[in-house]
Amino acid sequence: MRIVFIGPPGAGKGTQAARLSEHLDVPHLSTGDMLREACRLKTDVGKQATEFMDAGRLVPDSLVNKMVVDRVRRADCQNGYLLDGFPRTLPQAESFDQMLLQAQTPLDVVIEFRVSEHDLLDRLAGRGRADDSADVVHWRLVEYETATKPLLNYYQQRGILRTIGGAGSLEEVSSRIMRAIDEITGGAQ
Ligand code: AMP
Repeated sequence: MRIVFIGPPGAGKGTQAARLSEHLDVPHLSTGDMLREACRLKTDVGKQATEFMDAGRLVPDSLVNKMVVDRVRRADCQNGYLLDGFPRTLPQAESFDQMLLQAQTPLDVVIEFRVSEHDLLDRLAGRGRADDSADVVHWRLVEYETATKPLLNYYQQRGILRTIGGAGSLEEVSSRIMRAIDEITGGAQ
């Protein structure tokens, strides 16, 4: 199974991705986690990404694309993976599609997490992470609205988009996700 999670910051993607990747026994690939680790280790990618991340802006496509391609080519991704936070722009989706086409490994499903702005701001306020300050949150939401939302239409046209409500308990949201995946795969996983 190759799955992509799309949703605004604070929608609960990371928590759900961790649960689902365990359930499906595929790696959870969070580009945010990968980039934070690169920053911590001060790798070349990390050094270039820091200023964008600190400001709540998206890291340039070229950096992220290469990082993801290198990661999904590794052996543990052979039976699938769950991408959390990638793609986030149309150029990322297009470049990713080219790679998937070449490898003959199509995406199975893209899950959109929909959460009201009120709930999002509530959750982000309670999280207390360094990138959750008001200014940074503002830019992260703007990036989602302008750069990432166009992907919904892109994947809708391919017939693999499913939208789920992100409000509710962990279990409620998990079972919505499982139902959406079953619908699209016919319960094959
Ligand atoms: P996340 O933990 O997914 O919210 O990501 C944290 C930060 O990492 C984002 O605010 C961006 O600066 C950067 N980032 C993560 N994934 C991407 C991506 N696919 N494209 C560009 N920047 C990204």
